[in-house]
Amino acid sequence: MAVRAIRCPSCRTATAADVLAAVGGACPHCHRPLDSAARHEQAVAQTLEWADEAAARGDHADALAWLNTVEAVGDGLSPDYESRRAQWRTVLRDRRSDRQTQHAAGSVRPAPH
Ligand SMILES: [Zn+2]
Repeated sequence: MAVRAIRCPSCRTATAADVLAAVGGACPHCHRPLDSAARHEQAVAQTLEWADEAAARGDHADALAWLNTVEAVGDGLSPDYESRRAQWRTVLRDRRSDRQTQHAAGSVRPAPH
C-alpha cells in the first residue's frame, strides 16, 4: 500500500497520511493542528488511499467512486491517478463484457468457494 506524506505547514515535517489521521490531524512533531488547507490535503490523500485499497481488492467501481469524491471536493486528479482511473475503467468494462459473453453463451460457472 502506497503511503502518502503530508507536510506540516508549521515545521515542514512530512508525516504519512494514515499516521496523521490516527493522531487527529495534529502534527506529531510540533503538535500543532494542521490548517484547513493541510486538512483538506489530508482528506484528499486519505480518499486516494481508499481508492487504491478498493482497486487492490478488486472493487474497481468503488475505487472510481472515491476518485469522483476527490473531484467533487474540487481537486483535480494528478496525471498518475488519471491513468489509474483509465485502467480501472478498462478493468470494469472488460469484466462487464466477460459477464455478457458468458450470459450469451449460456455457460454456467460453479459457484466460487
Ligand atoms: Zn509540525
